[in-house]
Amino acid sequence: MAVPQRRTSKTRRDKRRTHFKLAVPGLVKCEQCGELKMAHRVCKVCGYYKTKEIISQ
Ligand SMILES: [Zn+2]
Repeated sequence: MAVPQRRTSKTRRDKRRTHFKLAVPGLVKCEQCGELKMAHRVCKVCGYYKTKEIISQ
């Protein structure tokens, strides 16, 4: 069975993990109400998208 010749050092292991990222980016602040919303989508809190009201409440 194949066995690694050397133990991976803490530095090497941690450098590899710099590419591991949590959470999907794409959350932005709503221009209208300041809530966090999904980018390129109508804000579900105030119903605005790009200064226009899309969903009236
Ligand atoms: Zn909003």
